[in-house]
Amino acid sequence: MSRIYNFSAGPSMLPVEVLEQCAAEMLDYNGSGMSVMEMSHRSPVYDAIIKETEADLRKLMNIPDNYKVLFLQGGASTQFAAIPLNLMKTGKADYVVSGQFSKKAYKEAQKYGDAKCIASSEDRTYAYIPEITPDMVREDADYVHVCYNNTIFGTKYPEVPNVGDKVLVADMSSCITSEPVDVTKFGCIYAGAQKNMAPAGLTVVIIREDLLGTEKEFTPVMLNYKEMADNDSMYNTPPCYAIYVAGLVYKWALKNGGLEAMKKRNEEKAALLYDYLDNSKLFKPTADKKCRSMMNVCFVTGDADLDKKFCKEAEAAGLSNLKGHRSVGGMRASIYNAMPREGVEKLVAFMKAFEEANS
Ligand SMILES: *Cc1c(COP(=O)(O)O)cnc(C)c1O
Repeated sequence: MSRIYNFSAGPSMLPVEVLEQCAAEMLDYNGSGMSVMEMSHRSPVYDAIIKETEADLRKLMNIPDNYKVLFLQGGASTQFAAIPLNLMKTGKADYVVSGQFSKKAYKEAQKYGDAKCIASSEDRTYAYIPEITPDMVREDADYVHVCYNNTIFGTKYPEVPNVGDKVLVADMSSCITSEPVDVTKFGCIYAGAQKNMAPAGLTVVIIREDLLGTEKEFTPVMLNYKEMADNDSMYNTPPCYAIYVAGLVYKWALKNGGLEAMKKRNEEKAALLYDYLDNSKLFKPTADKKCRSMMNVCFVTGDADLDKKFCKEAEAAGLSNLKGHRSVGGMRASIYNAMPREGVEKLVAFMKAFEEANS
């Protein structure tokens, strides 16, 4: 067996210990005589798994009791529709467009009501996070939607945006559980799990209870948060196996010191890369310094052919998936919780050698 360092933006690396436990329990989960993949979601054994997974996520993220945790399917992209369907009570919502995913969320919301873009960073190819102040928000908007970490452009909100007393909704697909967040500052947090929490197929929604029950009449039942909450995410078959793996990942994070410890490790890993990039004569980081992502580090040489050569040689050296998103080119190193420090050290050493050989 030889594992490489996988810098993919998602699906992405999972902790080796978690994969080993999945393998060990593959044929017989905890004396049940079957794999979690084969188990009825209504069985007592599975009920214990999903309850424990929720309890561990609550502990990890310090989620207050007046928030519901939903384990859904459809990816973060499905939430782009579910959010306006459930939360656009008066028919108005404000959106901050800080990248491709938030633009998609904004476009989707326009189908269901008056969605307004109140700030955008499209003018500089989303290299920064636009400033938001409460006076930019419409008085009668039901919520403000932001994408907290922009996976494609490598930017992140340096702090929770101030939207006054408005409900703040955040897509945290690529930064959830990377550091502590004050959940009480958000009305709703959602995330596709395949970046920092689990294999693809699971979407986590964390929503304040008082926001439930205002969905539009024609909301499909599968997108109805209240219905899902009332049925403990079991209206239909949930993504059982992905939930089980998420549970193992939460236990791994708790065992390794929780989100404070994750943050410290992630800051150190990101600093290794950014410090080198800031001093390199060949590579340039593309995101503005004050809103750099800890999870997705984007950089270019300025020469598309050289970028291609870099990715190819890195791949051959066991540093995989460093190609930037197809829409922006360049390079992107996604260094989520499961990426060990050693992987980043190896990447920086490789970049130094490449710089020497190509200048
Ligand atoms: C990956 C990603 C998405 C899309 O997620 P899917 O689960 O593929 O729908 C949306 N938002 C952000 C911030 C992402 O990183």
